Amino acid sequence: MLTSSTPTKHHTKWSDKQSKALSDLTEEFTLSTAQLEHLTAAFIDQMQSGLAGDQKSSDLAMIPTFVSGRPDGQERGSYLALDLGGTNLRVCLITLKGNHDVESNSKAFRVSDHLQEAHISELMDFIAISIKEFISSEHISSKIVEHPTDSDTLELGFTFSFPVAQTAIDAGMLLRWTKGFNCPGAVGNDIVQLLQEAIDRNKVNVHVAALVNDTVGTLLAHSYKHPNTFIGAIFGTGTNGAYVEATRSIKTMPTPTAKEMIINIEWGNFDKDKRILPVTPFDNKLDRESINPGIHIFEKMISGMYLGEITRNILLHLIDHRLLFDGTSSQKLNTHWSFETKFMSQIESDTSATLIPIAQILEQELGIYLNTQVDREIVKAVCELVGRRAARLSAMATAAVVRRGLSVEGHFAGYGYPLKLSEGDHVIGTAAGVNKNETAAEEIHEKTDSVAEHGGNLQQIHVGIDGSVFEHYPHFEERMVEGLTELLGSRAKDIVALGISKDGSGVGAALAALIATKNADHSC
Ligand code: ADP
Ligand code: MG
Repeated sequence: MLTSSTPTKHHTKWSDKQSKALSDLTEEFTLSTAQLEHLTAAFIDQMQSGLAGDQKSSDLAMIPTFVSGRPDGQERGSYLALDLGGTNLRVCLITLKGNHDVESNSKAFRVSDHLQEAHISELMDFIAISIKEFISSEHISSKIVEHPTDSDTLELGFTFSFPVAQTAIDAGMLLRWTKGFNCPGAVGNDIVQLLQEAIDRNKVNVHVAALVNDTVGTLLAHSYKHPNTFIGAIFGTGTNGAYVEATRSIKTMPTPTAKEMIINIEWGNFDKDKRILPVTPFDNKLDRESINPGIHIFEKMISGMYLGEITRNILLHLIDHRLLFDGTSSQKLNTHWSFETKFMSQIESDTSATLIPIAQILEQELGIYLNTQVDREIVKAVCELVGRRAARLSAMATAAVVRRGLSVEGHFAGYGYPLKLSEGDHVIGTAAGVNKNETAAEEIHEKTDSVAEHGGNLQQIHVGIDGSVFEHYPHFEERMVEGLTELLGSRAKDIVALGISKDGSGVGAALAALIATKNADHSC
């Protein structure tokens, strides 16, 4: 049977050397269940050290987001959402209608090259004026009148996709600019305050209520549809995750006021010193030649910005050994980052016998005009190796977070999991885990079975996912589910539901504003 975990069958015309090279690569890129298990245990350990504030022993920052409380889909009201993270600024009016229903209107404003390097007050004035223009447009004003919030001031949730040290739901200091932005006057200052000052300067009746990371927005937006959402994850240009943690476990927080809080894991940085990740020479080459060598190695094995480049490195290796394209490359293929992750999706989608569509991609996108069917089979097999490894590592991070949630006593009770999968603070399946005689997957399987048998109310834990890799890469989800099954037992699909959640920076940011406003009311 050809399942998604079976590598492409070698064509009979493959030479012995080609078969040998591919079987070596398969060995290097295939993660066994035991390896995944080992990585999961380490991931959970690093989550715990991060929560304990032990920066030396953890590569996971585990940032408290000050977002406490999850939506149940009944929330109502109109909120503004703002998304700044690239060349476009998006302003949205989100109307939460209750009953899991949302209406949204949005407008994009281009952030010019000049503004990306102008003084921060100029950028913030531009944002304030864009908000003003958006809400004074007739269509939007009438919507606000239709669905008024309690006061005249519109509350706004701000998705700001740059590194920030958050100190409250509505305060965070910019640590550094990335992605081509470099506005003086911002680093070291509170982004919310800078925006609020510009809004006030421009006489716009808006209050910045919440500052959120895109993973948090994804989690919140998914919760509005599926109240059992526990994790938000991004598999796009980069990768990261956020989840709901019991505040008593967050040792880095001053006296907790709420029972739970969303944590931004910053999981792209897992195992940055490459102690346990099975990095190959192809990954190391990519890392060395990247703009941020030595960090985010996990992200570099998973996300859209990098998968194509890993594949390109492998193809060049095969060409140099005269095992592909008769030893001839092209100018395009020799160019850094020329092999897009999107091509891998297109290549893996080709299930025809002769793989002619792959020949077209090689020709049109990469300038490789001479290729045989064996060449195309090899290219496809390489994409499968890189793509499957990415999906299995994504499953690993997801399973680690789920296991942690299942293990913290009482934490998952609301999800129908009054399971005791841990002793004290020890999490199942880690070095200090409880039962050494069976794997964590077996143990979870047994416990979920027994809850089901005793009439327990097993509800799926929902994971909201955003990103083109998850959405468009063929078999990515299926391969993730395979990995999850190895790590969470054969009832994995009863435990975890993966789902696409695309409106983190709109609906998610609006919900963060709502949560912030409610919390502020309570504290008055
Ligand atoms: P972002 O993460 O920046 O918000 P996306 O979620 O759209 O944006 O992810 C963009 C990344 O996804 C890029 O790195 C791109 O290479 C990759 N990508 C785009 N289309 C596809 C596709 N069809 N298959 C796989 N990866 C894709
Ligand atoms: Mg995105």
